[in-house]
Amino acid sequence: MVRVAVNGYGTIGKRVADAVLKQNDMVLVGVTKTKPNFEARLALEKGIKVYASSVDRIKLFDEVGMKVAGTLEDLLKEADVVVDCTPSKVGATYKPLYEKYKLKAIFQGGEKHDVAGFSFNAVCNYREAIGRYFVRVVSCNTTGLCRSLYALDRGIGIRKARAVLIRRGADPAEIMKGPINSIVLDPVTIPSHHGPDVQKVLPNIDITTIAFVVPTTLMHVHILTIELQRETTEYEIIDTLSAYPRIKLVSASEGFSSTSEIIEYARDIGRVRYDIYELVVWRESIKSFGREIYLTQAVHQESIVVPENIDAIRAMIRLIEDPEESMRLTNESLGIGR
Ligand code: NAD
Repeated sequence: MVRVAVNGYGTIGKRVADAVLKQNDMVLVGVTKTKPNFEARLALEKGIKVYASSVDRIKLFDEVGMKVAGTLEDLLKEADVVVDCTPSKVGATYKPLYEKYKLKAIFQGGEKHDVAGFSFNAVCNYREAIGRYFVRVVSCNTTGLCRSLYALDRGIGIRKARAVLIRRGADPAEIMKGPINSIVLDPVTIPSHHGPDVQKVLPNIDITTIAFVVPTTLMHVHILTIELQRETTEYEIIDTLSAYPRIKLVSASEGFSSTSEIIEYARDIGRVRYDIYELVVWRESIKSFGREIYLTQAVHQESIVVPENIDAIRAMIRLIEDPEESMRLTNESLGIGR
């Protein structure tokens, strides 16, 4: 059993912690919290050990009678691997501490590639992560792009890919973020950082991305225009994408014409927190003009990276060297592909 610590119990951290609890080959040794809020209380009620993120914060928990098991450093002593889910750029500041405890560490997409020196997506480069000390699981948008581009490149061959990203302005709980009434070019210049980030995982893909931020919290949407190496049909694209459990095709004919309906579906099938680990592709958005194809896909930003973190743990600890087997176990535990 590999002992996993989660540093930063926010949007990504609480989902990764819950996913670790569902694995038969991992144990969650604990999570860190900066403050004794309802998330800390709920973690304790679930039986998760909560550690204060630093010594000076223990008193905040003491003041409200919340029992912490120690500090981050106490937690790190108990673990084989730490999944860093602290906010963007904070993860990098913890690397020296992880090194001090000779811990393997997973960073998230908010950190620069160089922090880990290796950017991960399970289906694309699991084998290259085997035995590594540091791995960065790429961001939600990059994960979504990697999944569909890998499938199409492997199955048909990509000559070049162009993508417009319509990004959600904030996660549902982020009350101070926006925009509230604007479409923001993010950035105005081309490319957005997503294209170069995809190339950290898939260096051979010629990709350019343009990104906007809009007032919604549910999901991101990507519009892809791809020139393939040969002519294809819509049927072949559907077949190609359908072979991957972490890609889910939905149909406008069944009532899926927006991100809201995808979220409603996730709620109807009982997904916890309405999480959608799969990249969602609209079947009817797939259009072939021979070599040039179009498709539109949606990314649930809060959860798409969760299975990737679980697979990264298995690869780094050498629990399983076969990517398919690790992904199968992760998918089964999270209900992916059902
Ligand atoms: P978040 O703000 O929801 O959660 C971060 C947690 O870390 C919070 O609980 C916060 O209190 C805690 N924290 C803050 N400073 C800390 C410190 N010094 N030590 C320990 N904990 C600290 O952030 P998030 O959205 O979960 O993002 C985490 C990482 O995941 C970032 O790199 C982000 O870019 C990446 N990511 C986020 C999303 C998303 O849509 N939310 C998607 C993919 C990747």
